[in-house]
Amino acid sequence: MQLKMALAGNPNAGKTTLFNQLTGARQHVGNYPGITVDHKEGHLHYQDQKIIITDLPGTYSMTAYSAEELVARDYLVYNRPQVVINIVDASNLERNLYLTCQLLELGAPLVVALNMVDVAKARGIEINATVLAKHLQVPVVPIIARSGFGKDELLRVALQVASTHQQWNPLNISYGDDLDSTLPELIEIITAESLLTDTYHARYTAIKYLENDEQIQAKGRETAPKTAQLLEQLVDESTEHTRRTLDVYPEAIIADHRYGYIKSLLRQGVITRKFDADRLYTSDKIDKILTNRLIGPVLMLAILFALYQFTFSWSEAPVAWLSNAFNWLGNLVEEKLPDGILKSLVISGIIDGVGGVLGFIPLIMFMFFGIAILEDSGYLARVAFMMDRIFRIFGLHGSSVMPFIVSGGIAGGCAVPGVMATRTLRSPKERMATLLTVPFMNCGAKLPVLALLIGTFFGENKAKYMFFFTMLAWIVAMLAAKLLRSTVLRGDPTPFVMELPPYRFPTIRGLCIHTWERTYQYVKKAGTVILGISILLWAMMTFPALPEQVSISFDQKRQAALDTAAPETIGEQKTKNESSSEQVKAFDKTIALINNEEAEAALRHSIAGKIGTSMESVSLLAGFDWRTDIALIGGFAAKEVIVSTLGTAYSMGQVDAEDSQSLSDRLKQDSNWNRVVAVAALVFIMFYSPCFVTLVCIAKEASWKWAAFSMTFNTIFAYILAVAVFQIGTFFNLG
Ligand code: GDP
Ligand code: MG
Repeated sequence: MQLKMALAGNPNAGKTTLFNQLTGARQHVGNYPGITVDHKEGHLHYQDQKIIITDLPGTYSMTAYSAEELVARDYLVYNRPQVVINIVDASNLERNLYLTCQLLELGAPLVVALNMVDVAKARGIEINATVLAKHLQVPVVPIIARSGFGKDELLRVALQVASTHQQWNPLNISYGDDLDSTLPELIEIITAESLLTDTYHARYTAIKYLENDEQIQAKGRETAPKTAQLLEQLVDESTEHTRRTLDVYPEAIIADHRYGYIKSLLRQGVITRKFDADRLYTSDKIDKILTNRLIGPVLMLAILFALYQFTFSWSEAPVAWLSNAFNWLGNLVEEKLPDGILKSLVISGIIDGVGGVLGFIPLIMFMFFGIAILEDSGYLARVAFMMDRIFRIFGLHGSSVMPFIVSGGIAGGCAVPGVMATRTLRSPKERMATLLTVPFMNCGAKLPVLALLIGTFFGENKAKYMFFFTMLAWIVAMLAAKLLRSTVLRGDPTPFVMELPPYRFPTIRGLCIHTWERTYQYVKKAGTVILGISILLWAMMTFPALPEQVSISFDQKRQAALDTAAPETIGEQKTKNESSSEQVKAFDKTIALINNEEAEAALRHSIAGKIGTSMESVSLLAGFDWRTDIALIGGFAAKEVIVSTLGTAYSMGQVDAEDSQSLSDRLKQDSNWNRVVAVAALVFIMFYSPCFVTLVCIAKEASWKWAAFSMTFNTIFAYILAVAVFQIGTFFNLG
């Protein structure tokens, strides 16, 4: 007796290749669907058994959607092969199993040929055939159709299945409540009327009715019109119901449940992705060291320190170039523009203001580049993981770590996305505690201030001080969080599970894109918001101008100086360019002092000056003079403005354009500034009220009440800290 064997599978699963291997025939092998539209037959002998083997057209499904599907299904149900070899592409298992699922529903005696295991392996996919067989409840044989590997085993198993002459035994899977309750009704009618039962199982016919299978519907109408009408009516009702309740057709529900069946089956340990496993394995090994309880945090600190070292040392030269460029620009304008308001606006408002911010671009870029490496490699996730242990102590949650890092935990973030990132926290109290403390981090806007003051007063150890101020930000944030969590936000901690993605090598492209994105944000802000605020503050520092009689009195002073210094000689020597003369030097100095006095008087007289001086009595406790006060008020609008405002405030008292000094030099020479004041100022700037945009964000995420709380609480807190630093520092004479 001849044995009938059929090959079924998705297009390109390798049916024809296997067919040729088994029969020795030379059928056309194509790697596009539709090459085999009709079925081809071949013969082979195996263990004295004559076998007719049929290569069915490739199909993804067993519903009458296309000619191929019909050919394949009709062949199976009318010819009833003793065994069907379902060839599946192992490198694309999930999709291929959709057909397998339908073959199982049909009930045909099945053997799964797990083809292309070579391709799968090359892609790092390993499939456990034994487990798959166990869950499908049919034999699974791994093969490589192209080389013939596994073909004998496949034939052996196929013959074994064929020899049992088993009844077609359809797989019953659930299609969800709605359809599962309709199916028995349909099955009852189909069985009672024996509709198509010699070809299909009653359940299969019922499913096909629900799937709106035109071929089966037509066959039904042909053989038993009344029954068919009844069935169609029931199906219509069911369709109407699912349309109304779920807004889908039953076919879609059925397909979904088939995929669900496959998915849950594959989840039982059928597939292991070997490359991933490899990567996970190396990742795990790296993590054993990098996230080790003792070595991990030490390495983390070392890495951070290295980052600052890298940033400051590499950016030093470019920062100097840019700063020189802005000085040059300032001098150029000084020469070309006539004295007056416009000149003052361009130099003090725009160049000193925006230039002060833009001058730090190289520093920001190097910092962002370093952070991009940490982020893209997956190390940042480890930082979060390690910080989680510490966070718990302070009443925060593991999910709080990312908001902190985003806000500038390593330096150079922004509290606005940081505040928004707290949305991942479920517990409202942990979320509030996080939201209120993330603005303590050193965001990108505070970086220039840090860089300026550290560079000016602690120039020899920039990286060390940067590291120190970063640590300080964390410590203060943690303590503030603890304070909040044990007072206004008291409550229990919630559990946290952290996933660590495997490490990967960052790509240069990725790094550049990340660096550029963030740097661009910074540049854009400097060009728009900062420019606007800078001009506004300049106006506040310029107007109202000194009353006329005061201006005149300064003019008189200058004239008097000129008179006493024997004007003829001065004029003579100036034209001869003998500027080295003692006499001229003394004269210039006198004039400069008078100019300075006038500029200071003008600044004091301005709106900003009045505000600044009115605050001085309070702020001097922390060592801040009225000019610094002006900058700090500006910083409330945006922290970048602190540097630019200091620049403007101190450039307005500028002595002489010819020995134009950098802000850093001016601060160094100013009697109001020293190391202690610098630290007090830094502490205040780091912890006082979040900038306006952040406050709006806090208000949106929480409420205006919390935003107001954040503003006052932080400012008072920062003030107390700054006063403490200044008083203690001054007492021990550390300035
Ligand atoms: P069909 O559409 O199911 O008939 O698939 P084909 O037999 O035409 O095969 C599609 C493509 O897959 C052809 O290029 C075959 O050479 C290739 N192929 C089939 N089986 C294997 C296999 O086990 N390993 C590899 N690497 N390629 C295979
Ligand atoms: Mg083919």
